[in-house]
Amino acid sequence: MSMLNFLAVTTGATGVNPWVALAYLVAGVCFILALRGLSSPATSRAGNRYGMIGMTIAVVTTLITHDIASLPEIGIAIAIGGTIGFVIARKIAMTAMPQLVAAFHSLVGLAAVLVAGAAYANPGAFGILISHIDPTGLETLVISPVSRIEMALGAAIGAITFSGSVIAFLKLNGNMSGAPIMLPMRHVINLGTLVAIIVLTALFAMTDPAPEWMFVAILVLAFVIGFLLIIPIGGADMPVVVSMLNSYSGWAAAAMGFTLHNTAMIITGALVGASGAILSYIMCRAMNRSFISVIAGGFGAEDTGGGDGAVKIDRPWKRGSAEDAAFMMSQAEQVIIIPGYGMAVAQAQHVLREMGDLLKEKGVSVKYAIHPVAGRMPGHMNVLLAEANVPYDEVFELEDINGEFAQTDVAFVIGANDVVNPAAKTDKSSPIFGMPVFDVGKAKQVFFIKRSMGGVGYAGVDNEVFYMDQTMMLLSDAKKMVEEINKSLVD
Ligand code: NDP
Repeated sequence: MSMLNFLAVTTGATGVNPWVALAYLVAGVCFILALRGLSSPATSRAGNRYGMIGMTIAVVTTLITHDIASLPEIGIAIAIGGTIGFVIARKIAMTAMPQLVAAFHSLVGLAAVLVAGAAYANPGAFGILISHIDPTGLETLVISPVSRIEMALGAAIGAITFSGSVIAFLKLNGNMSGAPIMLPMRHVINLGTLVAIIVLTALFAMTDPAPEWMFVAILVLAFVIGFLLIIPIGGADMPVVVSMLNSYSGWAAAAMGFTLHNTAMIITGALVGASGAILSYIMCRAMNRSFISVIAGGFGAEDTGGGDGAVKIDRPWKRGSAEDAAFMMSQAEQVIIIPGYGMAVAQAQHVLREMGDLLKEKGVSVKYAIHPVAGRMPGHMNVLLAEANVPYDEVFELEDINGEFAQTDVAFVIGANDVVNPAAKTDKSSPIFGMPVFDVGKAKQVFFIKRSMGGVGYAGVDNEVFYMDQTMMLLSDAKKMVEEINKSLVD
């Protein structure tokens, strides 16, 4: 007997193949180690490796030990999907990552819906039929109530993830306004829809045979609520939505795992779901938002019109040059660099690290300050700075460095706007109001790199700091400007 056959047929008394259980356990441990590794930039590469090993173990185990319809068909599907994924991953600009992630989440949601639909249409193939004797004494086979609950939940979570992710994709990709869309009585509608889904799920589990219209109604309502939950979220709250949908996609995968009786999928889905929920919570705290209000679809949010309506402050401002910046920074004791989305657009991280090195050679203390929502995805700035080999001990989080600006000679803002905008503290009508921001205005000198005075950040709000006495605007593409500063620092 070959090793593969041995693995496939060795089944324990419980009906669970112990080799499969062991392999899934090892995969689960790898996933936990992956999450642990990803919690710090220093260990993130090792974390990724653990994740890849765990996924390989889970996929290979499933393929060789399960009763699979057609291995060649699955092979072809993996080849097509893998090629598409590979090409997209190679081509995608780093700045388009959030919408790509949203698009991928929508596929996870859709997969959960399709698995639930397939299980409903062909329950025999999923081994979820039980015998049922009706009041007339006739014995029929029906889907077990537990499987019906799993199926309804899988379909509902999957549908919410799908439609929510599609809306998030459209908003992040600029196909739909980034501003919150507030429907009248939206909380009543959302709550009513959720209650209807729960009631229908209970009826679906209790009614024999499970009626098709109920399954379809659960699906339709879930698609609708996914849409309703995401449209009122906009402006600075989008990062929370991205991580929240990440969490939903995990729960959708876990629900699929129940329907398919696949332990590895349940473990993986639960890990993704839980870690996404924790990340959403952390982002909410960083943004000073209530977790409940964001997951309930912008509860308590006011329509501030953020995202589109740029409010311009018409005041004089000072233009600086690369030479000015190089001179002032080389004279400084401490420079704090605040990167934002524009650094990612310009791919200026490598020249920025060179600038930091040149300043350090001149005896200047250089620190990088990272805001939790800087850029367009969680950890965006950390990834770019790590790619440019910026030492981790020079990178600081908001709460650890914000107190230092008052004793800092130069705050060097490169392609950031919202995360350094004092309107978040002073203007109640601003879409970013309440979000903690870097107090760059307290530094003795502020440099701002951006391409023009007309451009505003993601939330569409002008920035008071541009017009302060100690601020100099360096208007140029970020990479070009830093290259010129480096030239001046070397001369
Ligand atoms: P912002 O979007 O507020 O500002 C970006 C700045 O970069 C603008 O001032 C822009 O001005 C400038 N810029 C753009 N391209 C270039 C370039 N090539 N060279 C130089 N400057 C450039 O970015 P922040 O990082 O400050 O804030 C992030 C925002 O994105 C927050 O509102 C956050 O909520 C939101 N968001 C974050 C997500 C996340 O997960 N991190 C996800 C979704 C949204 P100009 O056009 O004049 O050059």
